[in-house]
Amino acid sequence: MFDLIVKGGTLPDGRVTDIGIAGGTITAMDQLGDAQAGEVIDATGDLVSPHFVDPHFHMDATLSYGIPRINASGTLLEGIGLWGELKQVMTQDEVVARALTYCDWAASMGLLAIRSHVDVCDDRLLGVEALLQVREQVKDYIDLQLVAFPQDGFYRDPTARENTIRALEMGVDVVGGIPHFERTMADGAASVRDLCEIAEARGLMVDMHCDETDDPMSRHIETLAYQTTRLGLQGRVAGSHLTSMHSMDNYYVSKLLPLIAEAQINAIPNPLINIVLQGRHDTYPKRRGLTRVKEMLAMGINVGWGQDCVLDPWYSLGTGDMLDVAFMGLHVAQMTSPDEMCKCFEMVTRANARTMGLEDYGLHVGAKASLVVLDAGDPIEALRLRANRLCVIAKGKVIARGPRSDTALTLPGRPSSVVRRHKTAG
Ligand SMILES: [Zn+2]
Repeated sequence: MFDLIVKGGTLPDGRVTDIGIAGGTITAMDQLGDAQAGEVIDATGDLVSPHFVDPHFHMDATLSYGIPRINASGTLLEGIGLWGELKQVMTQDEVVARALTYCDWAASMGLLAIRSHVDVCDDRLLGVEALLQVREQVKDYIDLQLVAFPQDGFYRDPTARENTIRALEMGVDVVGGIPHFERTMADGAASVRDLCEIAEARGLMVDMHCDETDDPMSRHIETLAYQTTRLGLQGRVAGSHLTSMHSMDNYYVSKLLPLIAEAQINAIPNPLINIVLQGRHDTYPKRRGLTRVKEMLAMGINVGWGQDCVLDPWYSLGTGDMLDVAFMGLHVAQMTSPDEMCKCFEMVTRANARTMGLEDYGLHVGAKASLVVLDAGDPIEALRLRANRLCVIAKGKVIARGPRSDTALTLPGRPSSVVRRHKTAG
C-alpha cells in the first residue's frame, strides 16, 4: 500500500516508470500495476523530475521592488545602496510576509530547496530573525538553507565580523562573504581567509559572492580556491557569480580553472541578474559578463544556475521559476546542443542539489519524495516551454496542482485548440 503512485511518467534520463511513495519517501520505482495507493497521479507522457533547486537567492530582499524607490542606474552598486535604505525602514513582519509569499510561488513551481543569503550587516539582525522563522514555517515543503552574508563588507562594515558570528550562533547554516566589495584587494583576500577559517572551525559550508564585477583583476576566486584547499574544505565551498572571469586574460584562466577543480569548488552563475548588471560601464562591444560556464564544465567543475533575485533592488522581474533561469543561462552561455540543453536542466536540479549538499535527493528508492510533474515530454521541451507544473509533491504530499498550457482557438478551418508541446515521451 502506497500513499501515492505517480504513474507512467518519463524521467529526465528517458526511463518510463511508476513511482511508489510511502511515508514521505520513494519506496518503489517499477511497473506497479494495480498496486493500492491513497491516490494515483497519471503522468503518462509527462516529464517527472526531482524538484528544482535554487542555490543562490536573497529572501530578505525579495518582493520589495520599488520600496523605497527603483534602481535608476540598474547597477550592482546602486542596488546595494538602495537595499541599505530599505534596511532602515523594513520590519521583521514585512520580511516574513514577503518571504512566505515567495515560498508559495516557489512551491507552486516545484522549487523545493533554496539557499538564501541573509544580510548580517544590521545590528538588530532583523533579517536573520525573520528568515529563521520562515525556515521553520516552510520546513514541511521547502528546505531553506541560510547563508550569513556580510553585504556591506566583512572588513568594511565595523560590526560585520561580530554579526556574522552571532548569526551563525543563532542557527544560520553557511558562511558567506563579498570580497570584491571590500575597500582593497588585500582586504578582500583577508576576508576570504578569515571567513573560510570561521567555516572550518565550525564545520560549516562556505558560499561567497565572488568577483561580481567586470574588473578582470578581481581574482578573489583564486584566493577562495587556495583557502579551500589549505583548510581541507574541498567540496563544501561555493563561488557565486564569478563574473570577472568573463573578462580575464585567457592565459591566467588556464591556470585558474585547474585550481578551482582541485579545490572542488561549486560554481553558481546567476544568468538573469548578471546579464542585466554586467557591462553597464561598457560602450560597445558590451560584455555579457556571465562567467565561463562551458569551460568550467569541461574541467569537471560542478556548475549550477542560481536565480539570485526576484522583484528586489537589483532585479525588477522574476517568478521563482528555475526553468526561466536555465533558459537565460542556456542562451547567454550558448549551450544550444542537445547535450548542453539537457545539462542546463540538470544544472537547476541535480547539480544544485550537490552544491547545497542535499541528502536523499533524486528519483530512486530511498530518496525523499519531492518531485514535480511537468507538461513536457523531456527536459529540453520543459526548457523551451518553461513548462507548466501539473503536480508538485513535497516530502510525500501533493502541495500544488496546475493546468496544462493548451489554449482554445477559434480560427476557421484550424483546430479548436493549440498545444505547443511537440513531443509526447514514453
Ligand atoms: Zn546574491
